[in-house]
Amino acid sequence: MSALSRLLVLPLLLAVDAAAATDPHSYANTDEVSVRAVALDLDVDFGKRELAGTADLQLDWHDPAARTLVLDTRDLTIERVEAQAVGGPARVLGYALDPRDPIRGSALRIRLDQPATSVRIAYHSAPQASGLQWMTPAQTAGKRHPFMFSQSESIHARSWVPLQDTPSVRFTYAAHVRAPKALRVVMSADNDVGHALDGDFRFTMDKPIPSYLLAIAVGDIAVRETGPRSAVYAEPSVVEAAAKEFADTEKMIATTEKLYGPYRWGRYDILVLPPSFPFGGMENPRLTFATPTVLVGDKSLVSLVAHELAHSWSGNLVTNAAWKHMWLNEGFTTYVENRIVEAVYGKTQADEEFILAADELRGELAEMPKPDQRLVPDFDARDADEAGSDFAYTKGAWLLRTLEVKFGRDAFDAYLRGYFDHFAFRSITTEEMLAYLEPNLLAKYPGKMSLAEVKAWIEQPGIPADASVPTSERFASIAKQRGEWLAGTRKAADLDAKGWNTHEWMYFLDGLPKPLARTQLAEFDAAWHLTGAANAEIARRWYLAAIRADYRPAREQMAAYMTRIGRRYLILPLYEELAKTPDGLAFARGVYAKAKPGYHPLTRAGVEKALATQGKD
Ligand SMILES: [Zn+2]
Repeated sequence: MSALSRLLVLPLLLAVDAAAATDPHSYANTDEVSVRAVALDLDVDFGKRELAGTADLQLDWHDPAARTLVLDTRDLTIERVEAQAVGGPARVLGYALDPRDPIRGSALRIRLDQPATSVRIAYHSAPQASGLQWMTPAQTAGKRHPFMFSQSESIHARSWVPLQDTPSVRFTYAAHVRAPKALRVVMSADNDVGHALDGDFRFTMDKPIPSYLLAIAVGDIAVRETGPRSAVYAEPSVVEAAAKEFADTEKMIATTEKLYGPYRWGRYDILVLPPSFPFGGMENPRLTFATPTVLVGDKSLVSLVAHELAHSWSGNLVTNAAWKHMWLNEGFTTYVENRIVEAVYGKTQADEEFILAADELRGELAEMPKPDQRLVPDFDARDADEAGSDFAYTKGAWLLRTLEVKFGRDAFDAYLRGYFDHFAFRSITTEEMLAYLEPNLLAKYPGKMSLAEVKAWIEQPGIPADASVPTSERFASIAKQRGEWLAGTRKAADLDAKGWNTHEWMYFLDGLPKPLARTQLAEFDAAWHLTGAANAEIARRWYLAAIRADYRPAREQMAAYMTRIGRRYLILPLYEELAKTPDGLAFARGVYAKAKPGYHPLTRAGVEKALATQGKD
């Protein structure tokens, strides 16, 4: 994911039972049995807001004496469970659904009287499934057809498929999906750009993937090819702009292949979702899901595509085995993303993006509890959705950048390419990563960085003193102008800001004092009109400054922004900041009451936490 969202530190505690296997966020008895392949047969029912049908699970038994299959579910209604015998009749099996745990959902315990290599579960999802968003026509750009999409990471696949919902298990899948005619169904599988809109779609994913990469979307979705193995899917009114913005996709794929070896997934397509998509992007294999908030017309925010594409190596190919090891997905990906941006758009932009992220991380040192600043924090007792902090992303990438500088780019690139090959299609822990790092990089070039120094990055809070930081002349010039404006020696209108790109605006705004005087905001707004800015990254920073200074003229446009967009990274910080004063809280509650119907369940949960409401309706 590329959500870089500073998540609220209000842990929902989870009772960890002593018998939990390697992944505390799953009930699955993966030491006894694992799912090798999944076949879905589903009807998409927009009226009932449910997916209904069957899931066939092919099983590999590791313990011949085991007779129970434990699966993860959340809010699923189980109708029937059968054992499938090759060439023989199906046998109905007994099962029990545990009471619902607020984080993990309900374990489905299937009893097998004799060994079975396959089970079929008939079920349907709930309208409030945490991993699906069902949108009315009014909530789409086109206003004519409903839209539905999934978001399975971290542990939401279980809300639409009964399975072993842990990144430690990988499976191939096939799906037969029926939907209303005229709508297109796409999945994280082999989408056919020429498929007839006949309401009947079949998919295959022949590479083994973890459950959080299971993905589906259904809607009025058009398609434009952007290269020999890439296309953009989006609502018809958005697809042209999306194809233009993402025109460099093939260049990015070829660049990454040159650095880290072949792209192993066939096609790389992008689905641009309605604005309620709660994240920046989601690296669903063969079909990245992306927010429309990066369509700004100048390609300045396409590092999002670099990020999701990078996941085709770090994350989808080499996967964190449990969510506390998330930095193996996100830290590696954020590093690779920056290398792709450097190769395609130049070192100046790559350095600017790195500095912005590093500054943001530094800003979080004071407020993030020290234990959570480690690269492998203790998330066993918390919701897996809380694992994606900026420390996993930025500090993780910073460690790899530091390794690159210490060992030299040639040696480090060769190492990283070897790492992706060595662990391809496997799920690993930080310990396994270190066991490969030591002989293949640290000991191979002795005296550059010790295992103890690497472990300090992983196990200690904060940012180690040996962290390598780039510099930017353009940022230095902007910092100087900002200082002059704040000191009153330069007027806002005299800032040399006409040619600033998105990142330079972000840098200027990130460095403003908190809070700024209301009169200064008014002077700045009169000169540069940031209230109502179309660029969502710039608007986010401006509205944060406006809330801190209680600058009321921004409120109407800010409310429109928070209602239009559902991407958590862009709006949750605004709700959090508003909630700090009684008046701001009242305003935020008013905005939420209007915006809620258009928000994704994950966004609603985040906003309700920020507003400390109980989310009663
Ligand atoms: Zn990511």
